[in-house]
Amino acid sequence: MLVQVALPVPLYRVFDYRIPADVNAFSSGSIPKVGCRVEVPFGRQTLIGIVINHIASADSSVPSNKLKAIKRCLDDEPILNEKMLTLAHWLARYYHYPLGDVLSVMLPSLVRQGKPLDLLITHWRVLPQVTDDAFRANAKKQKQQFDMLKLHGERGASEDVLLLEGMQRSFLKTLEDKGLIERYIQKRSAPTPVSLAKMPLDLNEEQQQAVDAIIAAHEAEKYSGFLLNGITGSGKTEVYLQAMQAVLETGKQVLILVPEIGLTPQTRARFASRFAAQIVLLHSGMTNTYRLQGWQDCRTGHAQIIIGTRSSILYPFANLGLIVVDEAHDSSYKQQDTLRYHAADVALYRGLQDQIPVLLGTATPTLEHLKLVDDGKLIEYQLRTRPGNAKPAPMQLIDARLQTTHQQTQDDGARYDTGLTDKLIGAIKQTLEAGDQVLIFLNRRGYAPVLLCEACGWQADCPRCDAHLTVHYSSQNKQNAYLKCHHCDWQAYIPAVCPDCGSQNLDAKGMGTTRLSENLHAIFANPQTSKQTYPIIQIDRDTTRRKDSWENIYQRINEGKPAILVGTQMVAKGHHFPNVTLVCLPNADRGFLSADFRSPEHTAQLMIQVAGRAGRGDKAGRVLIQTLQPENELLLKLVKDGYLSFARSLLQERKMMGLPPFSHAALIRCEGKTLAATTQALKDAIAGLPASHNLAILGPIDAPMSKKNSRYHSQLLLLAKNRPQLHQVLNQWWPSVLLMPSAKYLKLTLDIDPVGW
Ligand code: ADP
Ligand code: ZN
Ligand code: ZN
Repeated sequence: MLVQVALPVPLYRVFDYRIPADVNAFSSGSIPKVGCRVEVPFGRQTLIGIVINHIASADSSVPSNKLKAIKRCLDDEPILNEKMLTLAHWLARYYHYPLGDVLSVMLPSLVRQGKPLDLLITHWRVLPQVTDDAFRANAKKQKQQFDMLKLHGERGASEDVLLLEGMQRSFLKTLEDKGLIERYIQKRSAPTPVSLAKMPLDLNEEQQQAVDAIIAAHEAEKYSGFLLNGITGSGKTEVYLQAMQAVLETGKQVLILVPEIGLTPQTRARFASRFAAQIVLLHSGMTNTYRLQGWQDCRTGHAQIIIGTRSSILYPFANLGLIVVDEAHDSSYKQQDTLRYHAADVALYRGLQDQIPVLLGTATPTLEHLKLVDDGKLIEYQLRTRPGNAKPAPMQLIDARLQTTHQQTQDDGARYDTGLTDKLIGAIKQTLEAGDQVLIFLNRRGYAPVLLCEACGWQADCPRCDAHLTVHYSSQNKQNAYLKCHHCDWQAYIPAVCPDCGSQNLDAKGMGTTRLSENLHAIFANPQTSKQTYPIIQIDRDTTRRKDSWENIYQRINEGKPAILVGTQMVAKGHHFPNVTLVCLPNADRGFLSADFRSPEHTAQLMIQVAGRAGRGDKAGRVLIQTLQPENELLLKLVKDGYLSFARSLLQERKMMGLPPFSHAALIRCEGKTLAATTQALKDAIAGLPASHNLAILGPIDAPMSKKNSRYHSQLLLLAKNRPQLHQVLNQWWPSVLLMPSAKYLKLTLDIDPVGW
């Protein structure tokens, strides 16, 4: 008998290996089972792979004298069961990705490296008799770190969790040496059944209907895909919680997928305050040991509620009973590299596989999901109101062409434009004076997006990308000024004179979050010019880089005092700021002008999500959209008729044009040293398509940002009327494309159901 092994190599095949003469050399004393890890020779290397199949020697295409033997079997029992292997095969087929590479994506890196699964994880806890007197007055930092650990109660927490929270290893050691804390190894025991920590809310009728339907699917042990289409603040989370309750009570696990950015400690807190349960968080910030522990906890059933980002949909679960995909429209669910899967699609597949309900929740469903509802593949439940007194905030346009922009005076007496209309400033002022908070959304970090020479028109561009360099600058710290490419991180000094014409007339054009915050500061937070000053809180990747910065920002906002929040799309996702009553979008509607046919959909989703931050508490909210194109039909439709009606008309348009979701797309990208080479390679690829392919072919064209990081990109789009047709062509054709001579020095990738091109 032979063993077929999937190896982490980019080849569309598995490999046959002999079993060594002395099987007893394996600790199990038997042939490695399907789903176990084995170590095998591969060329001159030794690789770790997964046993996929047992076959008879006669069925192998490799001559028996060429067959090599397995070196070592790492597991006595399979680490991936049949279901997980079926999932791997499906992913490999659907996304046309090599099986061995699919398995690499699915497994935590320590598992791939052959580490034992049962980790002994160090935990730390405060010794019971220790009091606060143990600290000298000047040992502030020690005391602070000690308090962080103390917050975790008598069982303490694992070292990884503590480090993630900002604890420093050296302090753990110091506190241990002083006899204040101790380390111990925690053994995993079977979790106690989940119980309610807090009473559920009384549901309104629409919520109740949704919960009933999900519970009915759960009780019938049947797959059902649900679209919970509820306006922002309509209580979708309460629906999740009550559906979860029924599932958890039967001893099953619940997986909740969340977009990356929304994963703050608040997310966990919402579930932890309702259920006394083993809750596991899975996200990209985890260390390798923590990730392996999480993977094991899911696989053994120790974890009862799993909250995770995209990749947790590929985890093994002992007995999953429900999958919730929160903010299901979010583009972070699509993996943009290697195995380009969409977590919501994989969730639906796994629901079908396990015969369990899958719940997609969002206020702004994608056109794909709306089409699935029309086709009867998803069951839609709508939540049209907010509970209690909260009303959805009305949206209003401000015509920036008719309004004067607010001007401020600089220290040297010069006047400058704030980029905000007087009308908008007036509304902000009114809101602050009423004691409320304002959120201003600007999807661009840094000081300004362009540095321009007023004399000759020169602009500071990235030498490696088709992109302008962003100006980073702050008037408080003028030394710290530089240019940076947001695509490849290239940095440069700000030149004193124009490199083309020598003029000193260089000007930062346009507005990023830093500049907007400074402008607002001059108007609302300058004690010299205004009686009342208000804090300006900037929320973007630059201000939230540190581990605890989100926490600090959250705390400042939740104090509830009047303030202005200035944020990028980080603020759009799922946050609950009850005191925000005014949301301003000074230039969010630009996306309606983009050439990408998906741009209107994504722009509208973002605008509605940001708008949804207004009026979530008891007070009514409003949304002001400042625009230079108040007659834009898409914008008017969105503001007047709301997202659903807007999305429906986009769907009609897609239908007429035969674009997804009314056709099925595959995007081929080619990356290389010149555009000539990448374009030629795609032309060669087209020439190799089977004569009867029947697909619509768009391209090759230069990719939207064709030069990035000094590499050039071309692309090719294939559209098929139906899925089988697309896959049939790709099955034969794609492996042959990868074997073209030029594929040796070019990078060719395939993206099934791409979300942008
Ligand atoms: P969504 O996720 O749809 O944006 P949330 O779940 O955050 O909305 O709910 C918004 C607010 O409404 C929360 O404070 C929540 O506690 C409250 N809420 C939800 N359902 C109910 C209900 N049935 N009765 C009272 N309050 C509710
Ligand atoms: Zn110049
Ligand atoms: Zn660049």
